[in-house]
Amino acid sequence: MKIIIHRGIDQIGGCITEIATDNAKILIDLGQNLPDGEGIVNDDFANFDAIEQITKGIDVIFYTHYHGDHLGLFHLVPDSISQNIGKVAKRVALCKHQRLAFIKDRKEQSEKEIAKIEAMQSFESQQILKVGDIKIIPYFVSHSAYDSFMFLIEANGKRILHTGDFRGHGYLSKGLLPTIEKLILKQGKIDFLITEGTMLSRLDERVRHENELKSEVIELMKEYKNVFVMCSSTDMERLATFHAANKEMKARPFVCDDFQKNVLEIFSDSAGKKSALFDFGEPYAFWKENDKLIQWMQDKGFCMLVRATDKFNDYIEFLLPLLEKDKTILIYSMWKEYVNPKSKHANKKYLDFIDNFPKLSKIHTSGHASADCLADVCNLVNPKKGIIPIHSENSADYKKLPIKEKLKDKIITETKTIDDMIIEIKRTTNRQQRTELKNKQY
Ligand SMILES: [Zn+2]
Ligand SMILES: [Zn+2]
Repeated sequence: MKIIIHRGIDQIGGCITEIATDNAKILIDLGQNLPDGEGIVNDDFANFDAIEQITKGIDVIFYTHYHGDHLGLFHLVPDSISQNIGKVAKRVALCKHQRLAFIKDRKEQSEKEIAKIEAMQSFESQQILKVGDIKIIPYFVSHSAYDSFMFLIEANGKRILHTGDFRGHGYLSKGLLPTIEKLILKQGKIDFLITEGTMLSRLDERVRHENELKSEVIELMKEYKNVFVMCSSTDMERLATFHAANKEMKARPFVCDDFQKNVLEIFSDSAGKKSALFDFGEPYAFWKENDKLIQWMQDKGFCMLVRATDKFNDYIEFLLPLLEKDKTILIYSMWKEYVNPKSKHANKKYLDFIDNFPKLSKIHTSGHASADCLADVCNLVNPKKGIIPIHSENSADYKKLPIKEKLKDKIITETKTIDDMIIEIKRTTNRQQRTELKNKQY
């Protein structure tokens, strides 16, 4: 049996993991490298030849979630290979690509992508999936993408836990440790833990619970009548934070564009059926001729979800002169470095966009596990053979976590064979290129 980390060691995003026995081969994620601050993607795998090579002999690809750094290269996969993603994640990915089809000169490309997503198989949490002699069980995790999963993989008497991206401080995180303890470890010990480590390079970043954010947003909404919000359009838990806060304000419309409305409808129709927090009701779609809505917004105030796009620049230009300046604010709810002009991660589009608003407030918490949460998971799983840290700028930093000493010796960042298991760690770029890549990455 073999674990191959094609990509993901010493870099955040672009994750590709292979697990192979003598008669079956699967990939976990086929992610694209993250774009730089100007939106340019530098990725050696983002072409048909490279993907044909890497997917040769692969039976099925399983995606942990719909973020581009895990799903991004799906459209290059030959039709003969089955691709699998969470049931709701598939709907969100489809919705996003249907939207992209409206971008000038992108129609043909988008149509191909939509056909690929439509052809994907989908799964639900705890569904038992089989590929030859490999058994895969997805377990739901909280992340800044809804319908994210970690995978338990069993084959040849070995058990591997691949966490994907996850966190312990979301509304939907409560089940994280109990799931590992009661569902995964009860059936037997884990041999190898493949885990994310995004926050390893941001150990000083305070991680707050989504609930804390909600209280802070409510305070701001009491002070400011006209609230614009810039956050990820597919981060359901964050969207719920703003929706719930706005609900407390009574009679203020929750406003967005038609794309965001479609995404919210998917969330209401899935998670919203299980918890009222994720039932977004009837959000109001903005357009400049929607006089009735604009009048209401001017009278009562509002919460409006915005993005740094040409369309929203146009909306903002139209709306701002109609509003009282001292009662208007933009809440920026994404990673702070994107809008730090001095940062290597600075995003010019974002910076220009936030410049439009008379007042700015930053309220955010990470979509990734804190150092303590990573350590808790690692100590609880207590893998017998090895820990393979992926999705972090420097995988060896995993040793800095408060994990048991004997586990520190099990961290694997170079190719090695343990008993009859081959762990192959590929580094697609040399050290200098990696440093350059690191400087470009979010
Ligand atoms: Zn990721
Ligand atoms: Zn992610």
